[in-house]
Amino acid sequence: MPHPETWLKVLPDGLYCEPGGFFIDPVNPVERALITHAHADHARPGHGAVLASPGTLAIMDVRMGEGRSGRVQQPLGYGEVITLDSVRVWMQPAGHVLGSAQIAMEWQGSRAVVSGDYKRVPDPTCLPFEPIACDVFVTEATFGLPVFRHPPPAGEVARLLDSVALFPGRTHVVGCYALGKCQRLIRLIREAGWDGPIYLHGALMPVCRAYEAMGVPLGDLRPATVAAKAELAGAIVLAPPSAIADRWARRLVDPVVCLASGWMRVRQRAKAKGIELPLVISDHADWDELLQTLTDVDAPEIWVTHGREEALIHAAEAQGRRGRALRLVGYGDEEEEGEALAADAASAPVPAA
Ligand SMILES: [Zn+2]
Ligand SMILES: [Zn+2]
Repeated sequence: MPHPETWLKVLPDGLYCEPGGFFIDPVNPVERALITHAHADHARPGHGAVLASPGTLAIMDVRMGEGRSGRVQQPLGYGEVITLDSVRVWMQPAGHVLGSAQIAMEWQGSRAVVSGDYKRVPDPTCLPFEPIACDVFVTEATFGLPVFRHPPPAGEVARLLDSVALFPGRTHVVGCYALGKCQRLIRLIREAGWDGPIYLHGALMPVCRAYEAMGVPLGDLRPATVAAKAELAGAIVLAPPSAIADRWARRLVDPVVCLASGWMRVRQRAKAKGIELPLVISDHADWDELLQTLTDVDAPEIWVTHGREEALIHAAEAQGRRGRALRLVGYGDEEEEGEALAADAASAPVPAA
């Protein structure tokens, strides 16, 4: 049985499956791309053929413009198996954002799984992560340090609603990433009993509409831009992280600036960004979820990408697994939205707000 190292390679464009002739989440346009999910640093435009889950393809269309992901788009439902050249390929939910998938590949009896980004806590906007037994498991490590433990999201949303009740004359503006975090936050706010309007920065509306079209109801959403200032007193407004400290936020009434991100665990970081109410809500696995996943998948070998590789490799080795740092370049940090936003700006027109 060939070791996955012999057929799954790190090339400048990204991770390449040689016998299948395809890249996974390539950072440049390629002939054949398989995409784990629609975040801008994983899903770039301009490929030849693109294979992804129906949800991911739909969101790519919304963000890039219809048909801009590639000349040919091929949807692959969760659990459906196809053969690309001699490689069997299928996808299972990754629990990260709507449409997010782990990509499983099997060649000559050897199986590798690329999980993309993932989390293990329930998310009302997407299907839960399903562990797949494999020989090599490729994992992210965005929060791959023992200090990162995300609290239950319902508790974070309760803190937000408590603050809204405490300051009925102020606008609560919550920074959140446009794809995934925003819709999850809205669902969590609805589940906590808030059925009034939620106001959105213009950049957040298109993906919300796409989620609703795919069966995730989000309730009464209104553009923050056209709302009268008086209407925004006591309101909840969601905006991209880049907008909350921007001139855009001046229209709000004495705003309480909040940010929903796994990085809000780091108090100095929240302080430095001027965040009054940090909400620790992440779409990435925390340290415990990463370790749990290594146990659940039970692969003898772990390839780590995206973040803090060293600690997770060390932990994998302590579990008796071989660990390897995959030096893939070009992936941004969606929680921080720095590089991911830059990639967005390069690939899609951001609606003026
Ligand atoms: Zn990512
Ligand atoms: Zn992502």
